[in-house]
Amino acid sequence: MSVLDRYAFSRRRLLTVFGGAAVTALSIPLESGKALAQAVFRTYPFQLGVASGDPSPDGFVIWTRLAPEPFEIGYGMPMAPVAVEWEVADAPNMRNIVAKGAMIAPPELGHSVHVEVGGLQPNRDYWYRFTAGKERSLIGRARTTPAPGAAIDRVRFAVSGCQDYQQGYYTAYRRLAEENPDFVFCYGDYIYEGRGNRVWNSAEGPRENVRQHFGGEIYSLDDYRRRYAQYKMDTDLQAAHAAAPWFGVWDDHEIDNNWVADHDQDDTDPRLFNLRRQAAVQAYYENMPLRASSFPTGTSLQIYRRAGYGQLLGLNLLDTRQFRTPQPCEGRYPAACAGLDEPKAEVIGAAQEKWLMDGLTGSKTTWNVIAQQVMMMDLDRDAAPGGQVNPDSWAGYRIPRARLLKKIRDARVTNLLVLTGDEHQNFAGDLYVEGAKREAAPIASEFVTTSISSGGDGVDQRPDMAKIQAANPMLKFNNSQRGYAICDVTPKAFVTEFKVLDAVTRRDGKLSTRAKWALEAGKPGIVQA
Ligand code: FE
Ligand code: CA
Repeated sequence: MSVLDRYAFSRRRLLTVFGGAAVTALSIPLESGKALAQAVFRTYPFQLGVASGDPSPDGFVIWTRLAPEPFEIGYGMPMAPVAVEWEVADAPNMRNIVAKGAMIAPPELGHSVHVEVGGLQPNRDYWYRFTAGKERSLIGRARTTPAPGAAIDRVRFAVSGCQDYQQGYYTAYRRLAEENPDFVFCYGDYIYEGRGNRVWNSAEGPRENVRQHFGGEIYSLDDYRRRYAQYKMDTDLQAAHAAAPWFGVWDDHEIDNNWVADHDQDDTDPRLFNLRRQAAVQAYYENMPLRASSFPTGTSLQIYRRAGYGQLLGLNLLDTRQFRTPQPCEGRYPAACAGLDEPKAEVIGAAQEKWLMDGLTGSKTTWNVIAQQVMMMDLDRDAAPGGQVNPDSWAGYRIPRARLLKKIRDARVTNLLVLTGDEHQNFAGDLYVEGAKREAAPIASEFVTTSISSGGDGVDQRPDMAKIQAANPMLKFNNSQRGYAICDVTPKAFVTEFKVLDAVTRRDGKLSTRAKWALEAGKPGIVQA
């Protein structure tokens, strides 16, 4: 049954529940939505906020999830399909509605709604809201992308991720929302799967968590739903969603630490792990503003996809988890073993690699971005002879990493930036087939954005990093505080501003710009801006 059939099916059940006449059309007439306006919620049903995502030149997805009692089993909703009305306007006051409709929030999807709004104008702001019964959501801002090939002066976007709820407040998201970016790229670790803990062992010693996850480690669909609810109740995160459309990808913690394909880090029987994975994948879809083309099927969901900003910027979002072979060296960190040179190793898999290269070689944009999860620089992590790498990064997969970089070099793909997360630190550097034996010019450059909260307050630079930086000449910058990045892209330069907070364990952390690094068009290698 297709996604659309599912909604049609829910529609018939909805009408049964509320005694309406049979209607076979997919879109629900507003009248029947109004008939449902009698529904009364004891508490506010839009407590998880609103979001928009995956913008195109003619529209975007708008998202919400009804949850009047977010932490209870059944989250306070009747176990029946419920109609939600939506409106899109061309100004924040919502006076001039340019698109509207009604949609079913199905119990199968945790009463989430994903509306794919179309027919809008390119490269402009829109505002949206939802209504259920007599209740109205907050208003969010979305923005369409420019038309393909359009001459664009500037795109300004934010990069974020790694937002462990326990280890810090989301002040960075409040500040990010104030930037009013054209879009947000979230590289993943949107939730963490671990149990609630009062204390943890940070890089700087024992720390007390500022807030705690509910319950134990999460396994079931109900567990994952409640974890998303706990994160999404944070109003700083809600502000960042309401401020701009997001392009989100997952990393590991949306499912389980360091998972790849049907393997978790504990060598659980893949049949067992896949049951957990299926629940996690469904919950991810339910809670993200994704298009129906990313609708989950069993354990899989389409994460890799493309977007464009006119002539200026092409965005290739990768999935480095679903098609990857297990980490080498039993995943020990830092790693050095024969498995680093495993010829059959894969990070993104053959189909995605072909899709990526087709996109890069066919690109007509000034700037090309690979927006993904784990570090692509082959950073030597201990600076001792022989070298040690992070086995969960591209450096743990030397054969597919070198193959991809050589293809990019040989295809003469220029002005290529890799945007990454996962490290809970900021890094800026250049990409070579081998960082230790650099070619005349870098093939591409990489900006790794630190975490929103994971890792707690952090320090400007970890004690071992001066030594590591000296041993890795392709690495130009490192910082270990929390925050986000702003990428300011013009035809002349791609400038990344690393924004850091002095603390995330207090609500009043102060934001500052720690560094600005740029790639100038046609000049390989990043420079300080
Ligand atoms: Fe993380
Ligand atoms: Ca991660």
